[in-house]
Formats: sequence, structure tokens, C-alpha cells
Amino acid sequence: MRSMSGKDDIPSGFQDLEEVEAPFEVRNVVIKSPPETVDKYYKAHEELGSGKFGRVVRCSEIVSGRTLACKYIDLKMSKIGDILNEIAIMQKLQHPRLLQLYDAFQESTRMILILEFLTGGELFYRVVNTEYSERTCKFYLIQLCEALKFMHDHSIIHLDLKPENILLVNPESNKIKVIDFGLAQEQKPGESLKVLWGTAEFVAPEVINYEDISIKTDMWSVGVITYILLSGISPFMGENVGETYGNVVNVRYDFDDESFETCSPEAKVFIQDLLIKEQSKRISADEALKHRWLQEITSNVGKSFNKDKLKNYLTRRKWRRAINGVLALQLMGADLDMRK
Ligand code: ADP
Repeated sequence: MRSMSGKDDIPSGFQDLEEVEAPFEVRNVVIKSPPETVDKYYKAHEELGSGKFGRVVRCSEIVSGRTLACKYIDLKMSKIGDILNEIAIMQKLQHPRLLQLYDAFQESTRMILILEFLTGGELFYRVVNTEYSERTCKFYLIQLCEALKFMHDHSIIHLDLKPENILLVNPESNKIKVIDFGLAQEQKPGESLKVLWGTAEFVAPEVINYEDISIKTDMWSVGVITYILLSGISPFMGENVGETYGNVVNVRYDFDDESFETCSPEAKVFIQDLLIKEQSKRISADEALKHRWLQEITSNVGKSFNKDKLKNYLTRRKWRRAINGVLALQLMGADLDMRK
């Protein structure tokens, strides 16, 4: 974990970032199947959210009373091989900034993942509901880059980094965790990997062009997330998905919006170093952590942000989600079936 020296310089609420305790002991999850059932071990409670392939509900382990999250994945929506891939990847990702897997079940019509329970909600909602500045923003990005450095050191690419997949551990803490490894891929040394999925606003040019991807593909999304955190505007968002893709492949974005007037030049350089079409020139998670902008945690650059734009972004996103999902599928021709 990055050493944050000079704790007095760290904004309040962020001092404990280095204290990272595992949510539970390391587990070697073996997938259970009938006659073992999820209901025998866990009691389901209220819904926490829903994703591409099913619902996530709060649950409690019957024997211990421990609260966890239960992710149901409908086998009509997803291939069994992809879920086994998600489980295998999660087993390798034992790190405090990454969501941990607790248990797994296979049934005839669905797979069920039992996960560490996160109660702090999405990062962007936290940010709009608290005082935040460029400086506090850096502390979230440092954690995100730490999560990615661990994944990338293990040759695992997340491939679906976006605000919904960055959650806070609990309402009191500023610790984040990256979730949803449903699209993640392990890249063997020297292996060429192409994918055709992701979320239009956050996806890198090489994905849209169906070219070889790499761990740097995630770093493009970090650039987009940083841009939105600092301005409340999505840099490549077009009138429709096709236009968004056009903006991405042509790296068409600018810092013209008034939100960037109060932003430090180093923050813009950080974004520019990530939103580079050529993957070899795009900075890695390790380089991002060493970047001048993220290193300068003591300077109090940036007053509190005006959060109206980010609030608008979140409101618009609610509506866009459903519409974009349909359009993306039409444009890409049932992309979920195109996994190679
Ligand atoms: P999918 O792979 O189907 O897209 P996700 O893993 O992204 O599903 O989960 C969907 C939503 O459920 C998330 O955006 C989040 O709101 C909620 N969620 C997922 N995992 C957890 C968890 N471990 N704790 C709390 N909420 C969660």
C-alpha cells in the first residue's frame, strides 16, 4: 500500500486509508451444487442493486449471522463459462481494494456468488453528498490505482471500470473497493486479446476498433472517471452511442468547460497522460501512482467543487442506462455473445 507520510496533511476522513483489514479470512471457494443450495446456508434480504445479468441482495449466513451480498446470475443471460471465469478471477484477487468472494453456488437456472457486503454506496454519490475538492478526489484515485496495480500485476484486466463499479466500504469510511469482475479477463504472457464489450462512455478506442487490448485499456477508463470527478461532465458523451464511439476513437475531448478553470494544470496533465490512443504511451497504474499530480497530496489545490454538474450527470445517467443498454446491443450486435 502506498505510504501516505505526514498524516497531518491528509484531509480529514482519509487518515485511515492504510489501515486495511480483510473482511474475512482468506477463503478457497469451491462451487457448491445440489443437494447443497444457497437457501440452506444463507437468508436473503432486500435488494441492493441490479446489474447486467441479475440482482444483488443483502443476505446473512445462517450459521454465523454474518452479513454478505448475494449476486444472482441468470444463466439465460450469461454463459456458465463466463461466470466460472468471474469466480476464478475473484479467487486470484485477494486485495483490500477489491471486492472479495465468500462462497458460490451452481443451480440449474442460475449461479449465485456470495460476496463481501459493501454499505457505503457508489463513489460518485458519496462525492456529491460531501464536501470535496481536487485534493480529496486524489485520495479516491490513489485507491483506484492501487486496486488496478494489483490486478494488472496479476495480468488481469477489469474491462468495465465505471462509477457504478467503485463502491465505498461503509458510510463512515472513505475506503473504496472495485467491484464486478464479470467482464474481466486474464491475459497470458504474449497472448493477443480482443474484446467487444464495455460501457460506451468509458471504453477505450482499442475496444471499439476491435484491436488488441492490454492492462492499459483499464487506464483509459481511469482517465474518463477522473475527468468526470473533476468536472461532472462525461468527456466523450455524444448525442447517441455511435457519436460517443466516434468521439472516443478520435480522442475528441477538451478542457473548455468552466469547471476546469479552477482545476490545477497537473490534474489536466494526469488526464492527458491517460486519454492517449496509443496504449504504449498511456501511463500504467504504477506510473499513475507516481504521477506528479497524485504525489502532491499535501498541497491544498482546488477549492470545493460545485457539485451541480456531477448531480446532473448522475440524474441523466439513471435515464441513459436503460436506453444506452439497448442501443449498444443493437449497434454491436448482441455484444455479449461475441466474447472470444
Ligand atoms: P452485474 O455484473 O450484473 O452488472 P454488479 O456486480 O455490477 O452486477 O452489481 C450490480 C449492483 O449491485 C452494483 O452496481 C451495486 O449497486 C450492487 N452491488 C454489487 N455488489 C455489491 C456488494 N458486494 N455490496 C453491496 N452492493 C453491491
